[in-house]
Amino acid sequence: GMGLMKGRRGLIMGLANDKSIAWGIAKALADQGAELAFSYQGEALKKRVEPLAAQIGSDFLAECDVSDEASIDALFQTIATRWDSIDFIVHAIGFSDKDQLRGRYAETTRDNFLMTMDISVYSFTAVARRAAAMMPAGGAMLTLTYYGAERVMPHYNVMGVAKAALEASVRYLAEDFGKDGIRVNAISAGPIKTLAASGIGDLRYILKWNELNSPLRRNVSQEDVGKSALYLLSDLGSGVTGETHHVDSGYHIVGMKAVDAPDI
Ligand code: NAD
Repeated sequence: GMGLMKGRRGLIMGLANDKSIAWGIAKALADQGAELAFSYQGEALKKRVEPLAAQIGSDFLAECDVSDEASIDALFQTIATRWDSIDFIVHAIGFSDKDQLRGRYAETTRDNFLMTMDISVYSFTAVARRAAAMMPAGGAMLTLTYYGAERVMPHYNVMGVAKAALEASVRYLAEDFGKDGIRVNAISAGPIKTLAASGIGDLRYILKWNELNSPLRRNVSQEDVGKSALYLLSDLGSGVTGETHHVDSGYHIVGMKAVDAPDI
């Protein structure tokens, strides 16, 4: 790589396996010389995350369940034992009851609404506050969102409501931390077959629809997202904050089914 992230240290949250968007981002950052720490959710995931981290030269792993304030505190205490400061964080975490990622949004339960908002929205704010305290010389933060925040997409339901709140929180955090030289952005990724996405009803149909109707006539990959993350987290993105940047083959600009798209 060109060394765009040389001497930069950062935390990657949300790596589950080699299909994770966090993996595409981690590889792109490591390729440019970044030094990475990884947080994983629960011991079961450790055995998956450890070898992936090792592949890109990291042995810095810490457990963190973002629904638990004490667990987030413990994560940042662990980071502080090894690093005085950090330069960036990546938040690639979302969760909702998959029984409610199909059917009608109107049936969303209060319990699942609150849990979805807690894990998928509040966690970014909770993490951002602690990360900012470790960024005395400025830094950059990134989260992941989806077009279901802006428009109704099939089965996305409460997760769409949560992503709308996440995108709003990106704007408020960008203002809060901007005067400290900390930038806060989101990538709105097109659909990608990952563990989390597999919980969404009719994912295969959604992937095919996006492939046939997006301007680029293909789906995006974890690597596509990784390269755009590199831009936003490196000095290439130095003038950009509070932004929701679409990495979706242009799907968000489309108003109608493409004339050349076959029926699916
Ligand atoms: P993934 O399953 O690989 O990653 C989701 C991660 O969230 C996992 O690592 C999981 O351990 C973590 N997580 C869930 N609950 C947690 C908790 N309580 N504490 C800590 N970690 C927790 O799937 P992904 O698709 O790579 O998802 C990453 C992000 O990208 C999510 O925010 C998702 O909404 C977003 N996104 C995904 C797509 C897509 O189509 N895959 C599109 C746009 C945005």
